[in-house]
Amino acid sequence: MKLLYPTVTLEKVTDITPELLHEMNVDAILLDVDNTLAPPTDSTPFEGVQEWIDSIKAEGFSVVICSNNYKKRIRPFSDSVGLECVAMSLKPFPFGFNRAKKKLRERPKSVVVIGDQVYTDVLGANLAGMKSILLSPQCEEHGVTIMLRRRMEVGVRKKLTVAKRGDGNVGG
Ligand SMILES: [Mg+2]
Repeated sequence: MKLLYPTVTLEKVTDITPELLHEMNVDAILLDVDNTLAPPTDSTPFEGVQEWIDSIKAEGFSVVICSNNYKKRIRPFSDSVGLECVAMSLKPFPFGFNRAKKKLRERPKSVVVIGDQVYTDVLGANLAGMKSILLSPQCEEHGVTIMLRRRMEVGVRKKLTVAKRGDGNVGG
């Protein structure tokens, strides 16, 4: 199902270069938090993430955090890494993306959603007509809903791995 496929797949957020973003023709980024920038249970970003955020901003990309997690968790995290945020964004529904887009510095010509989940980040981006970069979850997860969603992702991720072997990344 086309709606479940990202524009590009990569391992981690720090693998995303300004060159890739230029190639994708995007000038703005909506960023997931849990398992993308930091562990769901910790507010310390993964190694290299703060430097990556700083360098991407310095390159002129407009970046806003868009997470389904609570404000209590997302707001202090966003403040600590120096980004604006939308919490409780209800991905894959478009409401949160629309709120986040309003917080971008200027009106973007093209937005990419970056996250680690097919059924929230990628599906949401496709429904909203945005590009997406799907990452691998960066640490172990617990909980019934996330395990269920991960199980649902298996088929999609398997196909992406095959495609990746073929041509470097997945177009879409
Ligand atoms: Mg996530």
